[in-house]
Amino acid sequence: MTNQDQGKEGPKAMELNTPLLDELEEGPWPSFVSDLKAWSKKRPQVAQLLNQLEESYENRWNYWTGTVLNISGYGGGVIARLSDLADKYPDLTEFHTIRLLPPPGFVYSTERLRNLATICSKHGAGILQLHGLTGDILALGFSNDGTKAACEDLMDNGWDLGGSGAALRSLQCCVGQAHCEMACFDTMKTTRFITNHFISLLHRPEFMYKFKIKVSGCGNDCANAMIGSDMPIMGTWKGPMQIDQAKVAEYIDEKGVEFVIDNVITRCPTRCMSLKGKELVVDNDDCVRCMHCMNVMHKALKPGKEKGVTICLGAKRTLKIGDTMSSVIVPFMPLETEEDFENLAELIERIWDFWNDNGMDHERIGEFIARVGLGTFLEGVGPGASSSNLMYGEVRVVFTILGSGSRPTPSRNVPKPTRAMNSPMRS
Ligand code: SF4
Repeated sequence: MTNQDQGKEGPKAMELNTPLLDELEEGPWPSFVSDLKAWSKKRPQVAQLLNQLEESYENRWNYWTGTVLNISGYGGGVIARLSDLADKYPDLTEFHTIRLLPPPGFVYSTERLRNLATICSKHGAGILQLHGLTGDILALGFSNDGTKAACEDLMDNGWDLGGSGAALRSLQCCVGQAHCEMACFDTMKTTRFITNHFISLLHRPEFMYKFKIKVSGCGNDCANAMIGSDMPIMGTWKGPMQIDQAKVAEYIDEKGVEFVIDNVITRCPTRCMSLKGKELVVDNDDCVRCMHCMNVMHKALKPGKEKGVTICLGAKRTLKIGDTMSSVIVPFMPLETEEDFENLAELIERIWDFWNDNGMDHERIGEFIARVGLGTFLEGVGPGASSSNLMYGEVRVVFTILGSGSRPTPSRNVPKPTRAMNSPMRS
């Protein structure tokens, strides 16, 4: 308990009345309700939080109102929250959330975690969420003054605010080459590079709408990039996968041919594998890099030697047209040298330029592509920094295979928004 908690009146006496929340403590999994109940013994404010949440569950109503609270020099990073039940729960009158940039791969030292917990406990409710769907560290329960004091303290200790609003959002990546044999590129370096390169666009919203980039080292997509970001950057390889036939034979000896057929061969989505005795034969042209065979026979199979990334664009939940899947816009580009990283940054800038020049307010990039057509979008973005690296010709092939939207046109004319498209929808 900190000095802040000593001698507080009123809230300490508040009884918990949470029959619906109590049900969430049943079952085999750890429960945030149990954690918050334990913490409420030290922080009376948290008992009020649980009681308000119980009312939300009972009445199916959100009792939080959002507002704007900016820290000097930043246009985002604080999600300001005011309770509509402040008369009943006075300690929730101001209960803001601070978003903080996570380290790439979510790799923390114990010392840094203690430092974070100490600061957030000193100035706020001492509740941390690691990590939200945004990838940020979320620190909850700050008053107006507490928010400012916490941000100063956090920045003095080397932390930085994350993205919010119509900005580049905090990046998120899998641990990649730091710990994983499947990684096709350095995900943590890529995340750090993009974050540092575009840090001002992360701190100060300047876009049509939010833009999320997530980075996964291979098709296993441990960073949830394909479903959770506007621009997934996925590890991949060119050419044949690496096969150690001796290890394949060992695996067959250990598990049996039937097991390998049932769990590897027939589970390939394109049926690109077959067995010839104890030799695994792969039609690499049909491999879609799903990673399943490598996950099962990880000693025998590995990604190919020429590694790089596939860049996709346009996924996420959107306001006007519903959920969208992303399209491959660059099938393969290397990401190793400084020049490769500069090429990536230039491509991202081209994408943002075309979207922000032609998009509408609150139009996410997936919606924008759906409105103007993928062909027009690719024409508008241009061939990228280096046509040899970015393989723009292949983009058209992928587009044709996908067969969605209109075909590429020589014109960069963007359809004018209709009144319905331009309706003032807000999130
Ligand atoms: Fe490893 Fe691939 Fe998962 Fe990244 S996405 S941690 S490279 S398996």
